[in-house]
Amino acid sequence: MADDRDQVEFIPGALDRAGRFYVAGHRGLVGSGIWRRLEAEGFTDLIGRSSAELDLKDRDAVFAFFAETKPRYVVLAAAKVGGILANSTFPVDFLSDNLRIQVNVLDAALKCGVERLLFLGSSCIYPRLAPQPIHEDSLLTGYLEPTNDAYAIAKIAGILQIQAVRRQYGLPWISAMPTNLYGPGDNFSPKGSHVLPALIRRYDEAAQSGATSVTNWGTGTPRREFLHVDDMAAACLHLLEHYDGPDQVNVGTGSDVTIREIADTIARVVGFTGETLWDTEKPDGTPQKLLDVSKLAHAGWTAQIGLEEGLVSTVQWYRDHVTTIRQ
Ligand code: NDP
Repeated sequence: MADDRDQVEFIPGALDRAGRFYVAGHRGLVGSGIWRRLEAEGFTDLIGRSSAELDLKDRDAVFAFFAETKPRYVVLAAAKVGGILANSTFPVDFLSDNLRIQVNVLDAALKCGVERLLFLGSSCIYPRLAPQPIHEDSLLTGYLEPTNDAYAIAKIAGILQIQAVRRQYGLPWISAMPTNLYGPGDNFSPKGSHVLPALIRRYDEAAQSGATSVTNWGTGTPRREFLHVDDMAAACLHLLEHYDGPDQVNVGTGSDVTIREIADTIARVVGFTGETLWDTEKPDGTPQKLLDVSKLAHAGWTAQIGLEEGLVSTVQWYRDHVTTIRQ
């Protein structure tokens, strides 16, 4: 819901290509996509730190990093991220790590006066039974999906912190809520991955080994929306240069497919010709998750990369990197 106490008077415009830009989480799926996009757009002073170099849960280290580097712009794409299995097995980590990462980064960015900051949340912030497609105004109107409520609460706290900074300090910081993302650099680990990379890995391994069947979790009926990470990165820069406001902005394609449809498409793309079985004892998660992207369209941006086109290049990337990707 828009905050009528928002104090910011700011007209967005082109960012300074020479301005120092910190991409938090620059080695992850989203962060690496944003890094590529910023480089392609001519930004010359990009900075990033791996979690081994700078643990964003370490408040003193984060403040020291900001004091030393003084970025003008920040995208916060560092987070503990995972699929249903990881979220429901480690809810404490998803709540505690994400709260600490974002509070540390946002507090340190405030102290050093970062001019423009984009906080990334997730579509799981919305109620489990929110009307579809999900409009930004659905935030905090109902119960969350229990399999990822801890993660969602952390992300909701982040949106509120962005709004609070705007209200209390007048800085034009913004939030974006991406739908399910995929693409080069994704996490294909069997334990930590989201549905789409998990399916790519499963079907590709089945195709390579000559397996006759593949078993997926759930019924295959939930509907999901998928956005290519290069589109996501383009949308992030677009929002930083063309949008300002306290409300989070949904980022998606505006159309969805069933898990069964996406599984069939992936099977076709990787060349798997066997049978697909569904383990209906396993949870489905939210029945439908389609974002209303009219606010983003109003800000002048729509997705460009079609699902099949995006899958072909993602499968190729996976095959090229299968021996070196994170496990
Ligand atoms: P990834 O897991 O691919 O990347 C996360 C990044 O966060 C990694 O680069 C990692 O650094 C960094 N990180 C994690 N913990 C720490 C830490 N303690 N200190 C420093 N860095 C840390 O995630 P995504 O790129 O997929 O997600 C990025 C953002 O986008 C998240 O906020 C997520 O909620 C959001 N999002 C993602 C979606 C998706 O489908 N993937 C969907 C919706 C939202 P390192 O590699 O160095 O360990």
